[in-house]
Amino acid sequence: MAYRRKPDWLKMRPPSGRRFTEIKQTLRDRDLHTVCEEANCPNLGDCWSGRDGPGTATFMLMGDRCSRGCNFCDVQTGGMESLDPEEPANVAEAVAEIGLDYVVLTSVDRDDLPDQGASHFAQTIREIKQRDPEVLVEVLIPDFQGEPEQVRKIIDAEPDVIAHNIETVERLQWPVRDRRANYEQSLSVLEQVERESDIYTKTSLMLGLGEYHHEIYQTLSDLREADVDIVTFGQYLQPSRSHLDVFDYVHPDAFETWRRVAEDEFDFLYCASGPMVRSSYKAGELFVDALLR
Ligand code: SF4
Ligand code: SF4
Repeated sequence: MAYRRKPDWLKMRPPSGRRFTEIKQTLRDRDLHTVCEEANCPNLGDCWSGRDGPGTATFMLMGDRCSRGCNFCDVQTGGMESLDPEEPANVAEAVAEIGLDYVVLTSVDRDDLPDQGASHFAQTIREIKQRDPEVLVEVLIPDFQGEPEQVRKIIDAEPDVIAHNIETVERLQWPVRDRRANYEQSLSVLEQVERESDIYTKTSLMLGLGEYHHEIYQTLSDLREADVDIVTFGQYLQPSRSHLDVFDYVHPDAFETWRRVAEDEFDFLYCASGPMVRSSYKAGELFVDALLR
C-alpha cells in the first residue's frame, strides 16, 4: 500500500541526555561537524548513546559544500573551500575525547581536488587508528569518479568497513543522483574493495522514490554479485520543496520484508531496514552484533 501523507511512524523523538550534551560540547569546542546534527538525523539519540553497544557518530570531512548536486540531498553545491590540513588530527582527537567505539567518516564530493580528497580521507583513518587501534572505523566514500587509484588509497588506510551508497535502483539513478554518478560506477567501487581486500563493504538505498519491487530485488542481486556484505534501506524524505518529491511512504512492514529478503534470501551479513534508517544507523551496534552471530 502506498502512503502519500507523512505518516505517524516518521515522527521524531528529540535527542536528550548527558551523553548527548557531552558529545555536542566536544564537537563545538573543536569546530567539527557531524552529519547526525547537520542533517537533523532522527536517530541521533539512539546512535550517540550506543544504548547496549558501541556508540556511533558520523563525521563530515572536507567542508559543507559539495561539487555535485544530487536531487535528494540538502548539501549546498559549489563554492568549494580549501581543505583544513588539521582536520584529520582534530577529528581523531575528538573521537578519543568523546570515547567513541565506532566512527563513521563521510564527506561531500570533491571533484575539484586532484585526488578528490582520497588522501585526506585516508589520513583521517590513520590518525584515528594510531591513537586507538581498537576504534572501529567505517568510511562512507564518494565514487571518486570511478578512479581505482583513489579507492586504493582508502583500502590502504585499512578502515574496518568501506561504504559507498548506490542510493536507488538502476532506472532512477538520474534524476535522483547527480549526472556524474551512476549505478555501474558505484558497483565498481564496491567490487574493487571486495576484490582487493578483506574489508567489509556496505551500501544503502532509499525507498519511496518510485522504485518497483522487481527493481529492488535486482539491485540486491547485483550487490551480492559484487560480494557486498551489508545493505541498508531507509525512507526518502524530501529536504525542501525544491528537491525530488516523495513518491510514497513505505510501510514499516515492507521494510521488514526487505530486511528478511536481504538477510535470508541473499545472505547479506546484515540488513538494517526501516523508515528512519540511514546508512550509518546504529552502525557500531549492528556490525558488532552481526560479527558475533
Ligand atoms: Fe549530497 Fe553526496 Fe550528492 Fe554531494 S554527492 S550532493 S553530498 S549526496
Ligand atoms: Fe548519525 Fe548516522 Fe546515526 Fe544519523 S544514523 S545519528 S547520521 S550515525
